[in-house]
Order: sequence, then C-alpha cells, then structure tokens
Amino acid sequence: MILVLAEQQGGTLNRASWETVAAAQQAGGPVKVAVLGAGAEVPAAELAGADVAEVLLVQAPPIESYTLDGYVAAMVQLVAAEHPDNVFLPHTYQARDYAPALAVRLGLAHVTDCVGTKRTDTGLLFVRPVFQGRLLADVAPAGPALVTFQIGAVRADSVTRGAAPAPIRTVAATVDAAAIRQKPEAPFREAKQAVDLTEAERIVAVGRGIKAQEKIALAQQLAAALGAEVGASRPICDAGWLPMDRQIGSSGQTVAPKLYVALGVSGAIQHLVGMKGSRTIVAINKDPEAPIFEIADYGVVGDLFEIVPALIKELQG
Ligand SMILES: Cc1cc2nc3c(=O)[nH]c(=O)nc-3n(C[C@H](O)[C@H](O)[C@H](O)COP(=O)(O)OP(=O)(O)OC[C@H]3O[C@@H](n4cnc5c(N)ncnc54)[C@H](O)[C@@H]3O)c2cc1C
Repeated sequence: MILVLAEQQGGTLNRASWETVAAAQQAGGPVKVAVLGAGAEVPAAELAGADVAEVLLVQAPPIESYTLDGYVAAMVQLVAAEHPDNVFLPHTYQARDYAPALAVRLGLAHVTDCVGTKRTDTGLLFVRPVFQGRLLADVAPAGPALVTFQIGAVRADSVTRGAAPAPIRTVAATVDAAAIRQKPEAPFREAKQAVDLTEAERIVAVGRGIKAQEKIALAQQLAAALGAEVGASRPICDAGWLPMDRQIGSSGQTVAPKLYVALGVSGAIQHLVGMKGSRTIVAINKDPEAPIFEIADYGVVGDLFEIVPALIKELQG
C-alpha cells in the first residue's frame, strides 16, 4: 500500500497533492491518502472522490497550522500504524521542511524530487533527475521509502476517480504541544504582484530571443490576449528584465499549464525540467535546431518579432 500525505491550508488542497495521488495510482497497488490540520474535513471529502482505498483524516488537537515538530510527531504515529510499503509526498517547501526528519524518525529511505516510478520484477523504482537534469536515475531503495514527487512531474488531472466515494476514517494522533519547538506564524504571502506560476493554466515564456527589456511588452501583450501569465528563462530574470518569481526551470518554478508558449527560448535542459509537464507546448524560435522543438507540440521556425504581432492581431480579431 502507498500512503500519500496530502497538503492543505485552511481547507484547500494544493494541486501538488493531487499530482502525488496520481503518482501513487500510477505506481500500482492500493493507495491511501492522509490529510491533517485545521479544516482538513473538506479536503478529506474531496480526496474521497479519487479511486483510493481510504482517506485518513488525521486529528491531532494542538495542530492547527503546520509546524515541523507537530507534523513529524503526528505522521510518525500514522505511518507506524498503517505500515505502508512507501509514503509519497509532494516536493513542496513544506514537505522539504519535514520529510527528511520524518524519514529519519521512521528509519525509511528518503528519495526526493522524483518524476515517476517504474514497476519491475524486483519492486518499485523511483525515477529522479541527477546532474542538473541531464540524466534520469532509477533509484531502488533497500526497503520502504519516503518519496517526494517533483511538482508538475505527474498531471493532477490524471487522478483516477472512484466509482463511489472512498471511506473516510478519522485517526487520532497524540501530539505534545509543549514538545513543538516552532511557533507558526501567519502563512507566507507573496507580494501582491507576485504570481504563482505553478497554478497558471496558460504561460507565455520569454527567452533571450526577446533581445531587449522593452520588447518584453510584446510578450505581455500576447499573454494578455491569451489570458496567460508571463514566465521567463533564467537569463531574462538574471538580467532583471522580469522578477525572479517569473523564472521557470531547475532553479525557478516547475510549471504544468495547459498551454506553454515559448518565445525565443532555446530549450536548455535546466529550462525544460521546469516546463516539460505542460500539456501543449508551442515554440517560436528562429533556429530550427533549437532543442525546444524536441518537446514542442507545435513549432514555428521564424522571427518572433514577426510572428507574435500577427498572433496578437489574430487573437484580438
Ligand atoms: C545550475 C544552473 C541552473 C540553471 N537554471 C535555469 C532555470 O531555472 N531556468 C532557465 O531557463 N535556465 C536555467 N539555467 C540556464 C540554462 O542553462 C540556459 O542558459 C538558459 O535556459 C537559456 O535561456 P534562453 O533559452 O532564454 O537563451 P538562449 O539559450 O540564448 O536562447 C535564445 C533563443 O532565442 C532564439 N532567438 C533569437 N532571436 C530570435 C528571434 N528574433 N525570434 C525567435 N527566436 C529567436 C535563438 O535561436 C535561441 O534558441 C541554469 C543553468 C545552470 C548552470
């Protein structure tokens, strides 16, 4: 059995949790999903719609908000009681905070940032990028493992729905409030103009082919016409042409929109690992050999300064 530890805040599940449920379903075998924290009843009911054996609603009274000590204490009891073959988590900031401590406390192998699984005669292998995404390694832990999945590696909408709602079981965990060393503060909020590209349905990504900061307005016009967010390759953010939170790739955000339009982006591996989960990739690049075309669904070989204005005109039609 695979136990997924879903993540919610104030009654809202994040998309990465659905992606992890999908990863668990694709790995094969029974799946259970646990959810913890104040307001977890609503996400538990949502999760019960997935084709899973059971949803575990973990109740640990001192835990209202996330703290490392609180979550580790509750999850240690949960995992010890459920005996899963493996525990899956989304590779979020929260999981990165507590998953290593949880793995140590449970004596489990810890495999991070996975992009998929492979079922073999010898068991389940976990696929994860190594060497800045240049290679994919198949990791075979010696025993049960705590595994985190890269955001966007598996599509959230590939979750299989159940024929009937899965049962929800309430599980009580005892957590000593005095043993929690961290004091939760109000959840981190991005500055008002900051954007969570991981939730965007459409993205127009700008690469160095845009040539100059003032030309970014062209990409913004296309984004406005498409109802899309603007993202960028690293050199654009390094140059300060767009803020760092717009960067997509191994050192930026990992995104999986329905539509990804790349303008003058070459498709370096560090960029590709951050967007290859996009459903439809459109690349506009004047170099027919640009690596972005290897993963593009639609490729336009040409000058973006001719093609983008024509596209905007057509869209505004
Ligand atoms: C440790 C490390 C981490 C990194 N992390 C990231 C990351 O998170 N995200 C990231 O993006 N990169 C990252 N990089 C950088 C990455 O290796 C590439 O250098 C970068 O992605 C290239 O950006 P680009 O495609 O915009 O530019 P370029 O590679 O310079 O490509 C520009 C493209 O524009 C095309 N072009 C030029 N003019 C036009 C035109 N008029 N019309 C159409 N096309 C045109 C060119 O043919 C070319 O393909 C990282 C690198 C390292 C070493």
